[in-house]
Amino acid sequence: MKLFDVYPLFQVEPVKAQGAYLYDKEGTEYLDFYGGHAVMSVGHSHPYYVEKITNQLNNIGFYSNSVINNLQVEFAEKLGKISGYDNYSLFFCNSGAEAVENAVKIARHYTKRPAIVVFEHSYHGRTNLTMALTAKNMPYKEGFGPFAPEVYRVPMPYSFHWVGDQATISQDAIEMVTHKIEKEIGAHNVAAILIEPIQGEGGFIVPPKGFLPALAKYSKDNGIVFIADEVQTGFARTGHMFAVEEEGVVPDMVVTAKGIAGGLPLAAVTGRAEVMDSVHASGLGGTYGGNPIACAAALGAMETMEEENLVARARHIGEILGSSLRELAKKYPVIGEVRGRGAMQAIELVEPGTKNPNTAAMSAVVKYCQSQGVLVLTAGTYSNVVRFLPPLVITDELLKDALSVLDDAFASL
Ligand code: PMP
Repeated sequence: MKLFDVYPLFQVEPVKAQGAYLYDKEGTEYLDFYGGHAVMSVGHSHPYYVEKITNQLNNIGFYSNSVINNLQVEFAEKLGKISGYDNYSLFFCNSGAEAVENAVKIARHYTKRPAIVVFEHSYHGRTNLTMALTAKNMPYKEGFGPFAPEVYRVPMPYSFHWVGDQATISQDAIEMVTHKIEKEIGAHNVAAILIEPIQGEGGFIVPPKGFLPALAKYSKDNGIVFIADEVQTGFARTGHMFAVEEEGVVPDMVVTAKGIAGGLPLAAVTGRAEVMDSVHASGLGGTYGGNPIACAAALGAMETMEEENLVARARHIGEILGSSLRELAKKYPVIGEVRGRGAMQAIELVEPGTKNPNTAAMSAVVKYCQSQGVLVLTAGTYSNVVRFLPPLVITDELLKDALSVLDDAFASL
């Protein structure tokens, strides 16, 4: 028997978890410094979250999508409001990739146009369409083609590797993107521009200020649906409920998953009613989307975020994490850049004195941290980024412990 190892990074087999900790069967404690892959924002087994799910299971665990269950309505009301819409509609499904696919379906249906514009370094999932939308070949796409048509990739302003100040980079990128759209696709053929407000798997690439608002405006001016993939950035992670809030952008559709339900499979497409409601009845669907247990979990996660003010907490984590990482960068020239927002921070590792990727250093740091009981994730088009996504309930003390392990990891290189 062989099971596919989706992300073969750790040699840890957790059997129990609490808050920011994981435990294996020997009782060894590990600090989850990657939040179960950006999912565990409210931490592991939060008592309120557990209670919400168990109560629901004791009432009704599953029925079918032939009726809209009342938990879907309750959660949808909350989600629509925090997404910044006055008049909105929602579709629930089970995973980030599925939600991205549905957002694309809706945009095409609404605009009656075929083309989807995506960015260098993007990650949107592993189904056939979302592989086409994802940038990196290995390991996500190699040998799995042919890919879905009418997907066009445009430049992503990656400040660390581009030249100029933030304003120049933003302006240059907008010019390149719009030039490509107009000369190679035709704006009137574009159904949607799809972007992660901070790119996740690509290496926590934060677009320069002004880029997202300019894209949103260009979309609006050209009848293009602007979609934010907030699967990794959403739900308090960046110190806002959604990362697009940083610059006051309200996309036509927001795609969410991961942190939405603290580990149960739920994903959502939330969008302007005019766009979403263009789809005919039963045009979108699935057996499990928005099932009562997943919705109870989402309500449990969301109410915990509100109750414990995890948006503010993510900002506070960002201050500690960001400033400590910048201190480390002064000490260790292998750290080329520190970037991110809130509790979504990363370091890009380079050959000292250059911007050339240092994959060996990345692997060594992850391995050292694991040996000291701290689990961190890798990322990046060039496989040279270490990313930090701690549960938002982590204490300052634990954060500092993890950072001192990281310091030792660099000292050991
Ligand atoms: N979009 C983004 C931005 C993601 O980070 C991910 C998952 N890493 C996905 C989509 C796909 O989500 P899922 O794995 O739930 O299909």
